[in-house]
Amino acid sequence: MVTARRIPVATVARLPLYLRALDELALERIATISSDELAGRAGVNGAQVRKDLSHLGSYGTRGVGYDVAYLVREINRQLGLSENQRVAIVGAGNLGQALARYGGFPARGFEVVAAFDTDPAKIGSRFGSTVVQPVSEMATVIADEKVSVALITVPAAAAQSAVDAAVAGGVRSILNFAPTTVSVPATVALRHVDLGIELQILSFYTRRADETVAAAGPE
Ligand code: NAD
Repeated sequence: MVTARRIPVATVARLPLYLRALDELALERIATISSDELAGRAGVNGAQVRKDLSHLGSYGTRGVGYDVAYLVREINRQLGLSENQRVAIVGAGNLGQALARYGGFPARGFEVVAAFDTDPAKIGSRFGSTVVQPVSEMATVIADEKVSVALITVPAAAAQSAVDAAVAGGVRSILNFAPTTVSVPATVALRHVDLGIELQILSFYTRRADETVAAAGPE
């Protein structure tokens, strides 16, 4: 499977890892890096890095390596992060508040500019650098504030209606944290984050490791 720009999906998933490593290198004022060094910092192998970066038209210079500033620019461009993306949080509860306060988003090009909830007790309250607004205002605010991304942090039962309202406002992408599947039109990008699923997968590997130790018997 490939994206519209013909960059493989698996490469797209690794670009943020390279970007995080490259941002660190730029802070350390390192101007060029070999594919093997970048691989070590990003936690992948060197051949993979060379193949991934070739999809960006970047082949590095023999004996010199890759230009860090160029790669940062190019990966940001490919990820659509050349300009900050404006984010709305739908569901101003515990998770929504934690995300609104997370300082790592602005550094990665995402600015939380709006928050919505149905609870009258929360509407009007301060929420990070914004104020919670009623969901009835969502479509208008999303359009006026040029919000492109919605984070869905409502209970599972309310997730589809929250997604529909965000889509009606014109968001281009949805990151759904509610533990349920939701659907969006083909023109809207959708991803799902579920830490419970990550823990369940970890639990599988822990159990398998325990079984291997048990099968090996006492030393
Ligand atoms: P919470 O009860 O503290 O917050 C939910 C908020 O959504 C409340 O303020 C509620 O008033 C609001 N709400 C309800 N219906 C709404 C609607 N239609 N539109 C807008 N707002 C609405 O819950 P929480 O602990 O913040 O969890 C929020 C969601 O995130 C839950 O679905 C939870 O299961 C999920 N969650 C996911 C992860 C993850 O790893 N993905 C981790 C923690 C929680």
